[in-house]
Amino acid sequence: MSTVNIIKDPDSQKEDIPVGSRVELRSVTKAYANNSYTLLNVSLNIKKGEFVFVTGSSGSGKSTFLKLLYGQELPTQGEVIVDDLNVEKLRGDRLSLLRRRIGIVFQDYKLIPQRTVAENITFVLQAQGYTRKEIQRRLEPTLKLVGLLSKADRFPDQLSGGEQQRVSIARAIIATPPLILADEPTGNLDPDNSWQVIQILQKLNSFGATVIVTTHDEQLVRKCNHPVIQVKNGKLSRSY
Ligand code: ADP
Ligand code: MG
Repeated sequence: MSTVNIIKDPDSQKEDIPVGSRVELRSVTKAYANNSYTLLNVSLNIKKGEFVFVTGSSGSGKSTFLKLLYGQELPTQGEVIVDDLNVEKLRGDRLSLLRRRIGIVFQDYKLIPQRTVAENITFVLQAQGYTRKEIQRRLEPTLKLVGLLSKADRFPDQLSGGEQQRVSIARAIIATPPLILADEPTGNLDPDNSWQVIQILQKLNSFGATVIVTTHDEQLVRKCNHPVIQVKNGKLSRSY
């Protein structure tokens, strides 16, 4: 069993992370073009600095919920609020600015095969105009946090699935976003690697980030003491 020394990491990024984001849905309905609704008149609050799981069967609307938060989908009715922004009203540059405040992790990693670990993690910062110096300042603690300092020069196909997922987390967090959305980040991982991923997300949450994680994995949810939002029949219900 491989374990990663993420908890004892001395180089925390704590000072970089602003207070986490708050999220609110106000009477949100989402119906795709085929007319049947995915979410129906849903209202919900997630406070700054919370860590919540989102569960529900396949097709229940977990990914749709996250897509509404980063403006990938628009609500059919209602308002989606992240901090002081109405997401559904943002277009162009203002939507890009919101997305810079959100780190997104996907089940299938979405790494660029021809780029090294370090390049995969930093290319977004380069595109956003960060200086080389600032990128270097952020890269090492981020690699340490996800336990990949020794693998910065590898290519994705030279890594295990768990390592690839940790690269994708590093890419999502290097800009220290106050909101982290992870859509089934453990969906392709075994229990040991899944647990490492959750521990990294918990650590970021302990620094102040708001973290929202969708998952099918009931065991994982039970192992953690976080609120659970269940998606079912178009409704979101919170366990506490
Ligand atoms: P989950 O992530 O819980 O598996 P999704 O949010 O992906 O669920 O999907 C919820 C429902 O919305 C499903 O019935 C799915 O088929 C439908 N859906 C998702 N995306 C689209 C889309 N772009 N166009 C039409 N229907 C969609
Ligand atoms: Mg999904």
